[in-house]
Amino acid sequence: MLTQDKIDALRNTTIPPQGHFIDGQPVPAMAGGTLDVLSPIDGQVLTQIAEGRPEDMERAIASARAAFEDGRWSRMPPAARKKVLMRLGDLIEDRALDLAVRGVRDNGTEITMAIKAEALSAAQTFRYYGEAIDKIYGQVAPTADNVLGLVHHAPIGVVGAIVPWNFPLMIGSWKIAPALAAGNSIVLKPAESASLSLLAIAELAVEAGLPEGVFNVVTGKGSVVGETLALSMDVDIMVFTGSGATGRRLLEYSARSNLKRCYLELGGKSPNIIFNDAPDLAQAAKVSAAGIFRNSGQVCVAGSRLLVQEDIAEDFVAEMARHAEAFEVGNPLDMTSQIGAVHSLSELEANLDFVTRATAEGAACRTGGARILADTGGYYMQPTIMTGVKPDNDLFQNEVFGPVLSVTTFRDEAEAVQLANATVYGLAAGVWTANLSRAHRMVDRIRAGVVHVNTYGGSDLTVPLGGVRQSGNGHDKSLHALEKYFDLKSAWIQL
Ligand code: NAD
Repeated sequence: MLTQDKIDALRNTTIPPQGHFIDGQPVPAMAGGTLDVLSPIDGQVLTQIAEGRPEDMERAIASARAAFEDGRWSRMPPAARKKVLMRLGDLIEDRALDLAVRGVRDNGTEITMAIKAEALSAAQTFRYYGEAIDKIYGQVAPTADNVLGLVHHAPIGVVGAIVPWNFPLMIGSWKIAPALAAGNSIVLKPAESASLSLLAIAELAVEAGLPEGVFNVVTGKGSVVGETLALSMDVDIMVFTGSGATGRRLLEYSARSNLKRCYLELGGKSPNIIFNDAPDLAQAAKVSAAGIFRNSGQVCVAGSRLLVQEDIAEDFVAEMARHAEAFEVGNPLDMTSQIGAVHSLSELEANLDFVTRATAEGAACRTGGARILADTGGYYMQPTIMTGVKPDNDLFQNEVFGPVLSVTTFRDEAEAVQLANATVYGLAAGVWTANLSRAHRMVDRIRAGVVHVNTYGGSDLTVPLGGVRQSGNGHDKSLHALEKYFDLKSAWIQL
């Protein structure tokens, strides 16, 4: 059970400078460079990570390639791969608190969320794909009887993975676990500001029995090592979670190199639609407030655009504001904090700029709008609700990735659908209504990877997560995610 005493025993431990993890061991950057890691909790330097240069990334790719080609993992029987992944899941669970605290110290997510959404979810993910992998069958094609047509699931080769700073363990595991289960090697580039928990996972993987060189981590700047990874002729596929701007770059890198497949999980501006016939408006307000403000709004599927039917708008927004003001914002390592820190000073400033621009465009700040707890040196922001936001406003169209809710009213169902689909994104949505037919119509008409009905943000590993339109392509989670990590390879055998 999570207790404050256990957290306190870990919250100030020294984290030594971290190397890359290549060929089964930590190694410093070849040129010796390091980057400071700042803690969003107090703005202080927490430790240093290796500052990767292209040569470090090339070394990691070579290690992954060698491991793939000699078959130490790629040709290991699926049942043996399963054992390693199951053991890794157990090791992660054993060290869950340590991993969660380490992650909170560099990314700022509240510990009550991080323990489940980061560490325990990573353990579950490794077990899920471990369990799955000895249950995947190939096929015999229905050819003429003088031919045997076989369809194999072949591992692809070297997977390049790039992940963001929000939920690094959870999102990282969604890619590492199925990639490894399928027999691939992997080179991971975590966000430079949130690498610590993923470096720890790479060490645990070797402890669990993963052969050296199969899973490598290179830290450093996206524009340097991320670019080298995505431009490499020796990387077969890229899996990415992050911003649309970086996603576009990956597609360019692919076009400029070996046309590698790129799976992109990008941002969103997800509509959360409240009809006046919602079964329980008080519950809708409570869940909707958590759905935008937890983890300081730094959640890809956050319900950041509230669309509320005009006859209930005033009361509903008042109820949301009551919840927003009641949230305890503070040190994410205190269990009393319901909302932790904004990840970095630049993110905090970008959030505040959104509020300023929205105000200039005519929106009103119903609550919040300011930095708080600045005396701690950390980056904290009030949950913020902006009302009167119009569809052509910056705040309606663009992802904040912070605790800022945009509110717009609608008259009827047709207008709700039109507003819901009026951005370039399509990641998630919420619909609150007691009318079953309307709920089905909305699920059908809203362009999003997932539509929540009479809740917001529910998910588990069995349900795929992925966006449409400019929120990306491909899916993480569920057995569907495994499909990305196999090539379908056919054999045509003349009998
Ligand atoms: P980001 O795109 O700035 O960075 C993501 C990763 O890409 C980091 O590791 C970064 O170092 C790397 N990178 C940056 N420039 C690069 C380049 N030129 N070449 C290669 N790699 C490069 O995104 P972020 O700020 O870390 O994350 C926030 C974004 O992630 C938000 O838009 C959020 O919605 C999105 N996100 C999406 C999902 C999803 O499942 N769809 C989940 C979480 C976060």
